[in-house]
Amino acid sequence: MQKILVSSCLLGELVRYDGKNKHIENKLLNSWIENNRVMSFCPEVSGGLPVPRIAAEIIGGDGNNVLAGSATVVDKAGNNVTDEFLSGAQQALSLCEKHNITIAILSKRSPSCGNKLIYDGSFNNQLREGAGVTAALLQQNGIRVFNQSELEDAARYIDEQIK
Ligand code: SF4
Repeated sequence: MQKILVSSCLLGELVRYDGKNKHIENKLLNSWIENNRVMSFCPEVSGGLPVPRIAAEIIGGDGNNVLAGSATVVDKAGNNVTDEFLSGAQQALSLCEKHNITIAILSKRSPSCGNKLIYDGSFNNQLREGAGVTAALLQQNGIRVFNQSELEDAARYIDEQIK
């Protein structure tokens, strides 16, 4: 049965920048876990960043711009963490390719995992349209990325693939 890549923080792992998680309780997600379909991954930790870490945002665009080299990821203290974000994204893609994963459930609004909205780089809690670095790389490679509010859409997509 095909695996689903899921942000580790949604599964309760304490990997967020603040040392916490974003655990969600959901019947669909639980059924995928019970069926051994879920592969947990945190791109920022895999990219070499510690827990806890200073919050980061994308400056000058979204994840697609970071991948194209026209935007950077910088933490609130001014450290450039673009390389770590790119490494995490590349590792996520490699994992998907290795396991033929074509669907991911990633945590919304994250500069790595956000699929539709991200913070705008001002560190003022302002959102803009766009994907995080990992979400963008997966999307560019044909992997469908949903967030935790779109689990029913994800389930429909999985059903369509099986037909
Ligand atoms: S990088 Fe993704 S998986 Fe890791 S803590 Fe942030 S949102 Fe969660």
